This record gives sequence, structure tokens and C-alpha cells, in this order.
Amino acid sequence: QDDQFKKVIAHAKEYGYIFPSSEIYDGLSAVYDYAQNGVELKKNIREYWWKAMVQMNDNIVGIDASILMHPTTWKASGHVDAFNDPLIDNKDSKKRYRADVLVEDYVAKIEAKIEKEVTKAAKRFGDSFDKEQFLATNPRVLNYAEQAKTISKRLGQSLEKEDLADVKALIEELEIADPETGSKNWTDVKQFNLMFGTKLGASADHAMDLYLRPETAQGIFVNFLNVLKTGRMKIPFGIAQTGKAFRNEIVARQFIFRMREFEQMEMQFFIKPGTQMHWYEHWKEARLKWHLSLGLGPDNYRFHDHEKLAHYADAATDIEFRFPFGFKELEGIHSRTDFDLANHEKYSNKKLQYFDPEENKSYVPYVLETSIGIDRMFLAVFSNSLQEEELENGTTRTVLKIPAVLAPTKAAILPLVKKDGLPEVAKEIFDDLKWDFQVAYDEKDAVGRRYRRQDAAGTPFCITVDHQTREDQTVTIRHRDTMDQKRVEIKQLNEIIGQEVSM
Ligand code: ATP
Repeated sequence: QDDQFKKVIAHAKEYGYIFPSSEIYDGLSAVYDYAQNGVELKKNIREYWWKAMVQMNDNIVGIDASILMHPTTWKASGHVDAFNDPLIDNKDSKKRYRADVLVEDYVAKIEAKIEKEVTKAAKRFGDSFDKEQFLATNPRVLNYAEQAKTISKRLGQSLEKEDLADVKALIEELEIADPETGSKNWTDVKQFNLMFGTKLGASADHAMDLYLRPETAQGIFVNFLNVLKTGRMKIPFGIAQTGKAFRNEIVARQFIFRMREFEQMEMQFFIKPGTQMHWYEHWKEARLKWHLSLGLGPDNYRFHDHEKLAHYADAATDIEFRFPFGFKELEGIHSRTDFDLANHEKYSNKKLQYFDPEENKSYVPYVLETSIGIDRMFLAVFSNSLQEEELENGTTRTVLKIPAVLAPTKAAILPLVKKDGLPEVAKEIFDDLKWDFQVAYDEKDAVGRRYRRQDAAGTPFCITVDHQTREDQTVTIRHRDTMDQKRVEIKQLNEIIGQEVSM
């Protein structure tokens, strides 16, 4: 697993997807730059989301609020008081960890044991293996599952009550050791606020203390009234936004899974109080469907309903994805009640209400939120797509099977040789296709090597121009995943590519 993850990180760099930030100065921890291919993949993920959320829903509109906001926003939202991580230090190694993550990793290890038992049994029983039944009856698995559940529940409860002493007690009872040194000598657990502070204004005396936004959601809440009025919105309706968010994560790790500067895609859906469970189920299903539509495999997703609810929520679930380091949160779906709007009312003295013509009264709407990190989605797509394949002739190939709709480059145009007028024809095809698709031109090295290079870069189609092309205006088109090659007319190319890559 670790090896696979290392390959993912190395491949992301080698093929121009992700670079460490400011690398010539040895980088900045947990900050990354998107490279020439990465920026395209990221843009395509954003567009795929935007299309599903805004374009396809006539009651959802988008905005783009600023990163810097009036500081009172973060008092009203609860972030000044409650946006904390519980931290614990190891007295011997002097290393700092998130206490909840230490416990969650412990639980993940128990869950990995369950998976191992399942794999073993599946091998033993072959076709007759019934996974559901095995999970429900095998005593060892039941025991593991019970342990995992008890620990998660206790962690959830102590965090909810802010009982930090109990979080420490839990770590000691489970005999959790420093993952790097094995020491079990822990300090008490302390809270640490995750917001990045900054200053507005030049003179030190009059500068105003601001925060870089830790989530995009608040930009939507403070614009609720403006959008409601100018967009003539009727409940239920949604406001969507994508943009940067910043969190001073102490334990930033796992590549782009947890970064200090990242990008979110959030949608707040404003509803009538009392209907939140209906919309909670609706958005759970809709969002899972969106993920499944990309074809990364249904077994790689699961819901994880929260025991521990954030200060603003009355129901919450995560869509978890099977990352190379196990199942982890990819997207959150939260029923936020009227927590945000009601608090902004209180702090701003503005009425943030909706007049419901059917009820003939005004109320503060409830909110259902869907919130996903683009970077995590990027990691899900990228890590799942990277595969080593054994070929029939005994060799292997590295292929990046990014769903065609998201792939950075849709097609590479390759002249078979660098002479006989083939490059000229290939460039004509390139100039024609570039109006509709992100395409590449490559004439260097033998064509087989060029295919491998495009496979590894994730390009779904290779179009090869050969001598026959000059006679009959046909080319071969090769598919990345199947490696099948077909002879087609140049004028069909646009349609063939369009069929697979259009959103
Ligand atoms: P976690 O428990 O993993 O810290 P969270 O529950 O704090 O995440 P939310 O506040 O619900 O996350 O944020 C919504 C989404 O934003 C997450 O599902 C995730 O995809 C993304 N996200 C949150 N923090 C980060 C981060 N530090 N780096 C990258 N993406 C993030």
C-alpha cells in the first residue's frame, strides 16, 4: 500500500500533474502546485461538478465570493470559538499529532484486519463465498467490528463534549504509540485553532485582523439575501461555489489529501424547516450518483454517518473513498439547520429570512450542504487510475486510466515518421481538433514509445498519421484502455472523440 502510494506521488510529478510548492527552496510542507497536466485535470473536475450542480439544476445558481471576509463572519460562524483540532505531543519524540487522527488510524487498522479476513475467506470458499453473510456471522470479524465501533463511538462522544481528558485516556488505554518512534509517553490533549490570520491595511496600529477563509460556505451565507432578491429565488434553492480555502493543519500529510491551502466545491441548499431529512437523503443519493458516474468502481465508495456532529449540524455523513491508505472522507453532506443564517442575523442585525407565499409567513431557511475538496477528488481519480498492466507479450505498461471526460489531454496526434509529409498532415489534424479539445502533438521517438508515454500521461486517444493517410484521408485511432486500433476517416475524428470526452 505504501509502495503504491509512493508510486502515485512520483508519477504525479514525473508526468506533470503535481509539484511540491516552491521546490527550488526545498518546498513548503503540505503545499503543492498543480502542473501543466494537473491544472487541466483539476479544471475538468471543477467543470464536471459545476455542470452537475449548477447547469443541470434550474434552482441552483453559482457565485464567486472573496477569500477575505469581514472578521465578524467567523465569530458568527463559530470558527473563532470552535474550529479547533485536538492536539497531543509525544514527550520523547517531541512530535505533535492530532489526537483524533491517532485514534482513527487505530480504528482503520482494525478495519484492515476485517478486510484481510474477508480476502482470506473469499479465496478459501471461491464462488460460494457470501460476503454479507460472512461479515454477519464470523466470530473474529464480529469481534473486530465491535471493537472498531466502540472506539469510534467513544471518540465521537468525548470530542462532542470537548472532554479532552477522555481522549487522552482513550489513547492510553489503547496503548497507541508514536507512529514514528513507538513511544507511548503522551502529554495532555490541547485545542488548536486552524484559521490562518492575516492583516488588512498598511499601518501597524490601524491594521485590521482578518482570516483567510477556512471554508467557502460562509461566502454563500453572507450573500444569501442578495442572491435571494436579485435571482428571484424560490425555496428550495441552492447556491454553489468553488474556491480556495485555508487551514493551518498541524498534521498535514498524505500528499494532497490534507493540505494547508486547498480548494472546495460547496453547495448550500436552502429549504423549509422540517424538510431537512428529505433533502438530506436526496443529496446523499444525488452526490453518490455523481461519483459513480465516473466509473471508478462502486466498491470504492461508502457512507460514513457521523456519530460526532459538528456544532452546526443535526445530521451528517461522509462519502468515503478507498484511497491508497484506506477509506477516508472525500465529501461531506451536512444538515446545517438554521445555524449559520440565524447567527449571521444575530451578529449583523439584518433579517436573513424568506417569505414563503405558500405558508404566508417568513422564516430563516434550513440548509443542506454538500462539500467536497477538489484536491481530494483529484487524488481519488488519480490514484485509482494509475495501473500497472501485464501485457500478452510478457511486458508491462504503466497506464493512467483517468475517465476520458476528466483527462487533461483528450488526444495525441502522432506522425508515424518525421518525414514524407506526415508531420504536416498531423499538424493540420491538430489545428483542426484544437478548437474543440485539449490535444497534443508528438513526433519524437518510435511510435510505440509515444503510445506508452501517452498511456502513462492518461491521454485516452492516440491518432496516428501514416503513409496511407496521404492516399485515403484515414488515420488509426488507438484507445488507451483497450489498446485497440481502428482505421477511421479524418473527418470522423471529432465525433468519435466527442462521444467519449464530452461531459
Ligand atoms: P477532515 O475530517 O478530513 O479534516 P473535515 O471534516 O474537516 O475534513 P469539511 O470541513 O467537512 O472537512 O470540509 C469539506 C471537504 O473539504 C472535505 O470533505 C474534504 O474533501 C475537503 N477538505 C477539508 N480539509 C481539507 C484539507 N486540509 N486539504 C484538502 N481538502 C480538504
